[in-house]
Amino acid sequence: MITGDAAYIKKINRSLIIRHIIKEGMISRADLSKITALTRATISAQVADLLEEGLIVETQLEHNSVGRKPIMLSINRHAGYALGIDLDYGQLSFTLSDLLGQPISSISIKIDTIDYSEIFQLLMGQIKKFQTDYSDSQYGIVGIVIAIHGLVSKDEVIHYVPRLKWDEMNLKRDLESEIDIPIYLENNANVCSFAERVYLHHDTDNLLCTTLYSGIGIGMMMKDEFFRGHDGYAGEAGHMIIVPGGKPCNCGNQGCWEKYASESSIFEYLSEKRKIKNLTYDQIQVWLDEGDAEVHHLMEQLIYYLAIGLNNMINMYNPDVIVLESELLRMFPDSLSKIKRNLTSSISHYRELIISDFGKKSVVLGSCALAIKKFLEVPMLNFTFEEQNEKNESVVILTKNL
Ligand SMILES: [Zn+2]
Repeated sequence: MITGDAAYIKKINRSLIIRHIIKEGMISRADLSKITALTRATISAQVADLLEEGLIVETQLEHNSVGRKPIMLSINRHAGYALGIDLDYGQLSFTLSDLLGQPISSISIKIDTIDYSEIFQLLMGQIKKFQTDYSDSQYGIVGIVIAIHGLVSKDEVIHYVPRLKWDEMNLKRDLESEIDIPIYLENNANVCSFAERVYLHHDTDNLLCTTLYSGIGIGMMMKDEFFRGHDGYAGEAGHMIIVPGGKPCNCGNQGCWEKYASESSIFEYLSEKRKIKNLTYDQIQVWLDEGDAEVHHLMEQLIYYLAIGLNNMINMYNPDVIVLESELLRMFPDSLSKIKRNLTSSISHYRELIISDFGKKSVVLGSCALAIKKFLEVPMLNFTFEEQNEKNESVVILTKNL
């Protein structure tokens, strides 16, 4: 069908043009034509549409030399906003970003409930507040991505969230029946890998991100797509058995990787042993600074077991870039070189292994970026992370005990 093909080509060209405008920050029509290899006429027509839609703006540069001042195109970053939500155990974190993925406003709500309907009401209330606050922009909130710390099926149904004890919850459908904004659900390790790819690692099409917070999750970006497996559940590497007959795991097996190498394995052990209910990173930092022998030993053990699992992942996937998301690894001296010293197999191949500087905000940033990608319908985004002046608020809402 000729018309179908023409519409498809137009869509592909539009996506290519938007992608390059974002990548370059500011670009002239002539340079856009050179970079994309599209004709000047195609560029002119597409740019006219994007200007009409208010998605891009023109800026006339001051020019000292003789001749016409070049007119540059850039994204109209305040034409709309994206909302990223981290739905974690004990806390809901929201970040609203502009269309270039820069945070504008963030809010965290402490929760002490795992009840689906209570959390649903909190989510909905906060989303509606953002929707009202930013309703005077051209597009308002263009999309919402909610990061789930558990299994999300390919059709975005929550299959299982261990710490919330939720199974088969259709949060997307429930929210969309109340709120007129596209809502997407994605696994938290996946959105972390997306944040790393979009904001920092522009030069790779093969990135493996390992989050070590509440368990161990793997997010993989291969050729601009998530690696999802058959049902969408790929990346549950935390349940790879690395100690046969080892510690029992709530998945039903024994000796799972996350029982030995996740941050929660250390938090749970120290909380119980030292009888501290709400153990914090700051407390662990104090113990590390004091040279507490047991805490140092626990970190050495974590690194030993982390490297065993990483060795397996590297041999399985031959990743280009591996990113580790962990506050404890950032705090512990020389953790990266210690991990690398345990990765000595002559078979293992990777280019770069790093500990992320993003911290937990990679979840909300990755979620915002993913919502923007879906809105603009581009295959990939290249953002830079600017030091920002976002508004930050914390709200404590007490509901019933966990
Ligand atoms: Zn397990």
